Amino acid sequence: MCRFALVVLVSFLLMSCSAVGHRPDIPTVGSIPLVTFVLDDGNDTDYLVGKKIFAAQGAVACSAITTDRINTPYHLTPAQIIALQKAGWEIMDHTVSHPNLNSLTTPRLEDELLRSKKILEGMGLTVNNLVYPFNKNNETVRSIVRKYYRSGRGGTNSFNLGQFDPYFLKSFALKHDLPLMESHIDQAYRDKSWLIFYTHEIDAKVKITDSHGIFTKGEAVTLRPSGITARYTTTHWFPLYGSYMYIVPFSGVPQPGETITGVSSGATARIDYIMYNDLTLLSDMISYIHTRYPDMKIVTTDQGLDLLGVPKK
Ligand SMILES: [Zn+2]
Repeated sequence: MCRFALVVLVSFLLMSCSAVGHRPDIPTVGSIPLVTFVLDDGNDTDYLVGKKIFAAQGAVACSAITTDRINTPYHLTPAQIIALQKAGWEIMDHTVSHPNLNSLTTPRLEDELLRSKKILEGMGLTVNNLVYPFNKNNETVRSIVRKYYRSGRGGTNSFNLGQFDPYFLKSFALKHDLPLMESHIDQAYRDKSWLIFYTHEIDAKVKITDSHGIFTKGEAVTLRPSGITARYTTTHWFPLYGSYMYIVPFSGVPQPGETITGVSSGATARIDYIMYNDLTLLSDMISYIHTRYPDMKIVTTDQGLDLLGVPKK
C-alpha cells in the first residue's frame, strides 16, 4: 500500500514537472531582480576610478582580466587586482590574449582558457567565471569553458530571463544614455530578470575649444577652477564639429568652462561641454537602483549564480 502511494506521488510529480516544461537541471530566473556590472579588459580605471564609485554606494562590480595586459600601460597591476578582490569585487577571467575564441584550434582554446585562470589563481585570486572576448563564443568554445568555469558571459544586448544557460549569459553594453540605461533597469525589475551591464575604461569625453600646445598621451592634467586631477588620453579633431578630448577624471565632476592644463606638456584647452562622463553615469545608475528599487540586488556574477542556484564548479 505504502509503495503504491509512493508510485502515485512520483507519477504526479513527474506529470506536474512535464506539464510546466521545467527542467530542474537548467537554472531559472524570475524570483529576484538582479543587476551586475562588469568592467572588461582589466583597465586600471577599474581600480583608480571604479572602486570608489561602487564603494561610495555600498556596491561592488566585476573586473574581467586579460592576463597578457596585466602591468602594461593603463592596465591593472597585480596589487590592484588583489585589492579589488579584497574589496569584494569579483575577478573574472578574460583569457590570456583576448582572441576571438571561435577562430582558435582546440589546443589554443585550451591554452587561452586554462592558462589565464592558472595565472590569476597563482596570484592568490579566486576565479570562477569567464567573459568571452568580443562576446564571441560557439558550442566548441562553450564545451571547453564548461570544464573550467562556472559560467561564460557573452553580449546580445538582452536580459537573462526564464531558463538560461550559464555558459551563454547575456549582457548589455553600457551606453552613454542614462534614460535608456534606466529603462533597462525598469524592465529587469518588472520581469525579475538578471540584467548584466558591461563596459571598458571609465573615462570622460569633452568638447574643447581654445586649444594651445600638444598634450602628451598619459600625462596628468589639472582642471581649473575645480582643481580636479585627470589623465589625458587623446584628442580627436573633426572638420565642422571641432575637437573632442578623452580624459580620465580621478574624482569630481568636470564642468563646462573649465581650463585643462597638461602638467608636463603645459598645453591648455577649455571645456566647451561634456559629451559624457562614465563616473557620473555609473554613479547615477547605482543610485537609481538603490533609491527606486531597494529590493533589487546589485551582485557579482558569482553571487548572481549563487542566488539562482547554479552549481559551483
Ligand atoms: Zn574584452
